[in-house]
Amino acid sequence: MSYVSYPYEASVSQTLFERAAAVTPGGVNSPVRAFRAVGGTPRFMVSGSGPYLTDADGREYVDLVCSWGPMILGHAHPQVIEAVQAAVARGTSFGTPGVGEVELAEEIVARVEPVEQVRLVSSGTEATMSAIRLARGFTGRTKAIKFAGCYHGHVDALLAAAGSGLATFGLPDTPGVTGAQAGDTIVLPYNDLEAVNEAFHRFPGEIACVITEAAPGNMGVVPPLAGFNQGLKDACTKNGALYISDEVMTGFRVSRAGWYGLDGVRPDLMTFGKVMGGGFPAAAFGGRADVMAHLAPAGPVYQAGTLSGNPVATAAGLAQLRLLDDAAYEKVDAVSEEIRGLVTEALAKEGVAHRLQTAGNMFSVFFTPRKVLDYEDAKKQQSFRFTAFFHAMLSHGVYLPPSAFESWFVSTAHDAAAIERIAAALPAAARAAAEAEAPEQ
Ligand SMILES: *Cc1c(COP(=O)(O)O)cnc(C)c1O
Repeated sequence: MSYVSYPYEASVSQTLFERAAAVTPGGVNSPVRAFRAVGGTPRFMVSGSGPYLTDADGREYVDLVCSWGPMILGHAHPQVIEAVQAAVARGTSFGTPGVGEVELAEEIVARVEPVEQVRLVSSGTEATMSAIRLARGFTGRTKAIKFAGCYHGHVDALLAAAGSGLATFGLPDTPGVTGAQAGDTIVLPYNDLEAVNEAFHRFPGEIACVITEAAPGNMGVVPPLAGFNQGLKDACTKNGALYISDEVMTGFRVSRAGWYGLDGVRPDLMTFGKVMGGGFPAAAFGGRADVMAHLAPAGPVYQAGTLSGNPVATAAGLAQLRLLDDAAYEKVDAVSEEIRGLVTEALAKEGVAHRLQTAGNMFSVFFTPRKVLDYEDAKKQQSFRFTAFFHAMLSHGVYLPPSAFESWFVSTAHDAAAIERIAAALPAAARAAAEAEAPEQ
């Protein structure tokens, strides 16, 4: 495929964005889509095929967002589409138990050994919200530990920011979350086991759970230091709390069994979403059978959903998971490695200080010379360089996450032609990053 330089205007997208802004706050249904971090006009996509997206102006992009992770087989994979069409033709929702949800649950249990039982929900947010509720119901305790920079969906209690000093009460991170909701959340620096042990020491018998991204991808990619997840698990076990590993992003993406498949640390509860829905709203939480037995109707902790286990969503998720064999993960890993190599090479050639950090096949670029271990480090990067880099890539037909604090995602569909297009776009983008100037304060 020949290299094409696109004119930068996106007039149809611009018109759509104006229409959207008139009827939807900020013109989008999820904030990052609005391009606020990088500026410019968000592209309204009309179709996707394999590694490519096509926008409303008819321009094609190599997609390195993959719907923020779900599209691990690329867009419109024929076998997934076929499964969805067959499911739709049988009816779209019954409000009764169905075959697809049993099969999807069996697939998850078979893949992820610590998951003995699983409950299906419709979004990652619901999964983490329900897991926290279950942990509190199971332990009879109120407090939860989370880490700054880890994102677990827009659950009130988890939209908390660190207060001043370690092991103190969380503060609301957004208007609309009350002090009471945030106050039971203890926000600690990521990769800091000492802070975790100090919090357990300070609040004996009060901490229900520690929730962490199995390998964080929501502050850019910041993998756990060796022993960190095991240390969390040990601290929880010692103190009678539950260790909740949020694998909404990593689950079924970085290996057959997600991050658990790579580090083997056994959580009490786990949460899933993204890949397991095959592009539809399906998510899940699961884990120890004795804990899951506390969930209604088996137990007293209430949790429900009109569209939970939806037959179309479960058909899509199941079709996708069944296609994700060892060869598929090898392919995704290889694509990731090749693109990482190209990015590093281009940035190094222009002398741009950067850190390319990886968690399995997830990766992101921090425009900083230092290793990023936590959110404070991540925030020190020169994100104005990312902005220049992003727009240069976009204008050359490569769609990156529109923020320096997000993981890049690849798929089995990223073939030699798609990678060639990325390689062709990189030199100009690296130059743009090198020449970018800090905005005036
Ligand atoms: C995306 C994500 C969520 C939230 O999932 P939604 O489906 O957007 O509600 C939760 N946790 C992690 C780690 C995520 O990446």
